[in-house]
Formats: sequence, structure tokens, C-alpha cells
Amino acid sequence: MKSIPYGHQSIGVDDIKAVVKVLKSDWLTQGPAAGLFEDALCAYTGARFAVCVSSGTAALQLACMAAEIKPKDEVITSAITFAASANCALHCGARPVFADIQPGTVNIDPLDIEKKLTKMTRALIPVHFAGHPCDMDEISRIAKDNDLIVIEDAAHALGAEYKNSRIGSCRYSDMAVFSFHPVKSITTGEGGAVMTNNKRFYDRLIMLKNHGITKKGLVYERRGSWYHEMQRLGFNYRMTDIQAALGISQLKKLDAFISARRRIADIYDRAFEGNPYFDVPVEKERVRSSYHLYPIRLKEKFRGKRRRVFEKLKDMGLGVQVHYIPVYMQPYYRKDLGFKTGLCPAAESYYSRAISLPIYPALTDRQIHAVVRIVKEAFNGE
Ligand SMILES: *Cc1c(COP(=O)(O)O)cnc(C)c1O
Repeated sequence: MKSIPYGHQSIGVDDIKAVVKVLKSDWLTQGPAAGLFEDALCAYTGARFAVCVSSGTAALQLACMAAEIKPKDEVITSAITFAASANCALHCGARPVFADIQPGTVNIDPLDIEKKLTKMTRALIPVHFAGHPCDMDEISRIAKDNDLIVIEDAAHALGAEYKNSRIGSCRYSDMAVFSFHPVKSITTGEGGAVMTNNKRFYDRLIMLKNHGITKKGLVYERRGSWYHEMQRLGFNYRMTDIQAALGISQLKKLDAFISARRRIADIYDRAFEGNPYFDVPVEKERVRSSYHLYPIRLKEKFRGKRRRVFEKLKDMGLGVQVHYIPVYMQPYYRKDLGFKTGLCPAAESYYSRAISLPIYPALTDRQIHAVVRIVKEAFNGE
């Protein structure tokens, strides 16, 4: 049997048709499809502006640059996340600061954010871990009280909701960042977007993703219709129209994708209810998770069994993963930046007990039930 991965894209004939149409057109790089994809992202989330870019990582970096995060600034993010959530601060010369997680949702703990504030703190980057929205009420209150920028790392959370607003609406933040990597809610191959309601940030973002070049708001006199200016040091982080066409087509199916993920989570929840070995993910009141991941966590007395069970699951055909090693425990953060283990105890405890099970819309009922059977078998007798 082919191994069942923890995440996988769902590409249909409609997606393929949309991409082929672009391949036969005049525009392969950023063109009309990119603008239409941005419009569709705004319509879906309710945000005023969207800027699509070449990856979620590029989106995070540009969001930090648009917020003018500078050397010596501190940026607080979660200890349990993908490295890109913290690396974006480093790319601005700023220092990432890690706040611990809430043991239940595995999201950044607002109480620990408050403990880690200093007079150098400039921004907060909460991560909606596994698609479960963070406590945005508290996070936006802390930001207002301390005059901080909030950039949501919503790489897991396209399609999730927090108190009647969709993640990406930026109702509780300055900007929100999506990723369209194949394991995420929808895919464009590689790709990402920054959402915002702030025109100033929007103008900077579109300039920065295109080398810092603009034809508007000129510094010097315009000498002809060719004239353009490079006003900031930017990048080529444009999304191609090939990717954008795929994104438009995928976005139409997002609600069906999220329903499928939620149905699988529900099957797992019920199959594993009351088991003595591990806890399943929680979903709090007034939020709707997009279930990007389904991380189970071994109970305290089975902590020592994680490695054995993980390898057993792999041998039995499940492409399980661990999301994530606390970012500050990575060699670069320890050896080059001087971070030490022990910094975020709840994050380290979670990390030592977590295993992500397969969850994605393309899983068949047979595969879903195979996952349940294999997990039960792997734990049996431990
Ligand atoms: C996937 C991911 C990113 C980066 O997105 P890419 O599109 O892969 O660059 C950033 N943050 C989190 C939490 C992610 O899961």
C-alpha cells in the first residue's frame, strides 16, 4: 500500500483547464488573473485589499517590511510554528521573541505575550495553528494598549472563522498572510497573499513585490510615459498568472474543502474519544477551525513512547509528521542567535508529545478508516 501523507492537494479537471487557458494566453507572469485572484480573496475574506505573491514566506517578509519593522525592533511570535513566522523578523534585522502556547489550542498565549513585551516590541505575529484561530480579541487589545502592529500568520487558516468574521478579514489585525503551498487550504503550487484594510500598507506591498518600482507618487519629475521610479529596495515576489488562475479555480472549492476537512476531524474525534493514550485537537466556542492539521498529543504518561509510536505509524503506511519543533530549538536559533532550550515549557512539552495524522479533502472513506484502524493498532499494547 502506498503511504498516506499527512497533507495533499486536490486538483480537479476544472483547475487543469484554468491553468491551460492561461498557458495559451499572452500573459504568463503577473497579469489579469493575478488581479482577479486578489479580488476573489477580498470577496471571500471581507478585507479591502489583497496582494498575491510568490509564497507565504514572501508574504510574511513583505508584511514586516510594509510595517517598517527595523533593526533593534522586537517581534513576538509563537514558539510552535513554521520557521518562516520568525525568520521574517530576522530579514528586517529585528529580533524574534517567542511566546509560549496555550496547552489547549496550541496557539500563542496572550498572557505570555504580555510577559514578553519590552519597550523594543514593535509587532505581534500570532499564528492560527492547525487552522484554529488565535484569541484575536485579547491579541488586538494588547496591540492597541501598546501601540503594536499585528500581522496574522494565517498560512493554516484560510477558510477558518473567528467570531463571525473570516480569517483574513483583518478585523483584528493590520495584515494577514496566507500560503498556497500544496498542503494548505487551497494551492497555487507555490504562492501566498497579504490581506489588509490599510491603503498605506497596500501601496507599499505592491511596490515591494515588484523591486520597489512604481509609476505613482513620483519623487522626481515625470519625463514621459516610460518613466518609473525605484523608491524602495524590493524584490521580484510576483505571482504568475498560471498560479493565480489555479488559485481562482481552487478558491471556488474552498468551502467544500473545509467541510471535507471538518468531516474527517469529526470522524477522528469520535473514533478516538475516551482513548487512554492521547488527546485530540480542541475547537473552542465561537471559532470554526479550518483543520489544516490534526495533531494528536500523547498523554503525559505516554510521552516516552512518541518516537516508537511515530516510527510504527510510518512503518504501517501513515505519512505522519511532527508540527513543529519549537523554532528557537533549531540550530540556527541556538548556535547563531543564542536561544536556549527551556524558554517556552508548554511548547516544549507539546512538541515532545505531538503527532500529526493525515487530514485533507482527497482522503477517501477507506483511507480515513484505515488511519483510525492503524492508529488504534499502533497504540494498542503500549
Ligand atoms: C506554510 C507556512 C508558511 C510559509 O508558507 P510558504 O508558502 O510555504 O512559503 C508560513 N507560516 C506557516 C505557519 C506555515 O505553515
